Amino acid sequence: MRIEKNISLKPYNTFRVDVNANLVITIENSEELLLDEIYQYISKTNTLFLGRGSNTLFSKDFKGTIFLLRNEGIEVVKENDTHILVKVNAGEQWNSFVQWSTEKNLIGLQNLIDIPGNVGSSPIQNIGAYGVEVKDYIESVNVLMLKEKEERILSNKECKFGYRDSIFKNELKGQFVITKVIFKLPKFKGKIEEKYLQYNDLKERVKEHTLGNLLNTVRDIRKEKLPSIDEYGSCGSTFKNLLIDTAKYKDLEKKFPGLPSFETEKGNTVKIPTAYILDKLGWKNKREGEVGTWIYHPLIVTNYGNASAGEIVAFIGKIQQDFKKNTGLYLETEINIF
Ligand SMILES: Cc1cc2nc3c(=O)[nH]c(=O)nc-3n(C[C@H](O)[C@H](O)[C@H](O)COP(=O)(O)OP(=O)(O)OC[C@H]3O[C@@H](n4cnc5c(N)ncnc54)[C@H](O)[C@@H]3O)c2cc1C
Repeated sequence: MRIEKNISLKPYNTFRVDVNANLVITIENSEELLLDEIYQYISKTNTLFLGRGSNTLFSKDFKGTIFLLRNEGIEVVKENDTHILVKVNAGEQWNSFVQWSTEKNLIGLQNLIDIPGNVGSSPIQNIGAYGVEVKDYIESVNVLMLKEKEERILSNKECKFGYRDSIFKNELKGQFVITKVIFKLPKFKGKIEEKYLQYNDLKERVKEHTLGNLLNTVRDIRKEKLPSIDEYGSCGSTFKNLLIDTAKYKDLEKKFPGLPSFETEKGNTVKIPTAYILDKLGWKNKREGEVGTWIYHPLIVTNYGNASAGEIVAFIGKIQQDFKKNTGLYLETEINIF
């Protein structure tokens, strides 16, 4: 454990916003969270648990204690002919876990390679990419309930996963820290099933049925489309796609001809790509000083230099206002703003 006072959070958020926190405590193993010395900060100060800050925008200095979760570790707990059950500590980097699973010949997570962040953050917004969502591989999630100082295990069903959503963003918000995630991963039997190749570019570009080929193809596609966090500040998609009823969709389609729609589990609701609308409204590659949207993607608000927190927040607000004016709908952010 490391305790630092009044330091900049710039190295700890991928938007690269230069704000300060009163206190930053780095946690290296889950047990440290239970120590009295640490627990007094949890119970007595304004607290935020942070992974790699790749889904977090700080709009101002953080008054309180930030816990940086760096408790790493992967442990196989059970194995049979078809699956492996594996327990991963929250501070493990998502990418190293995906790579580990690929080396162990386990299928499922390859479509999610190169999503920055921690394993412990993955259930919170039910990360997803290229037709796959992490919820389909999560068996359960271990949390420490902060008020009670008590460990709880939530089954997959209890996590109430939805599109970029879960119980952690709703009923349990602010009341827990995720300490471990248990995954159930299928053993790869030599053929990549159709469900992993739904995304058009992938279907065309995956030439060999190997996990390495699937993983590297996703990597290549992401490199072509998304800003690298080593060069630009961003949190990936700043905004969510929208779930709307079919009547509203018909309305919107008149204004934005060709607007795609995707069926959802609820019969009368469809998912629409908000990028399509923002693109038509001229928000792709739009710059205002050092902040803008990404060259190839209007959903990705990007810090092209040293944009301040205020500039980024104001830019996000402008996009939301324009979207509302043209669609009547509120464009919800996917990122967490503090
Ligand atoms: C370039 C880029 C591309 C991206 N692409 C995708 C993508 O394809 N798909 C996708 O779904 N996301 C994507 N993201 C978003 C992001 O990578 C994910 O949401 C990721 O899971 C965030 O992990 P993190 O550890 O950085 O979270 P953080 O930003 O550190 O935390 C996110 C939220 O979870 C809370 N939190 C984190 N860890 C814990 C814990 N252990 N216990 C309790 N609360 C916790 C934080 O307080 C915060 O509210 C992208 C981001 C970037 C920068």
